Amino acid sequence: MNERKYTFDSFECAIAMLAPVCDSCGTQIIGHGLENGDQFFCCAGCARQQGITQLRDHAEL
Ligand SMILES: [Zn+2]
Repeated sequence: MNERKYTFDSFECAIAMLAPVCDSCGTQIIGHGLENGDQFFCCAGCARQQGITQLRDHAEL
């Protein structure tokens, strides 16, 4: 039981370490996010809040 829980926690930590964090709202981006150079955003709305207007959500394509 403890071993299984430990494995699960490590997996979550691995995701947390790999996932970029939105530069605007701080949300952890798991899956599709937006990238602008070395900045990451969870959605186009957050990118716009940082003055970046050329990015769009994948869903808008
Ligand atoms: Zn965001």
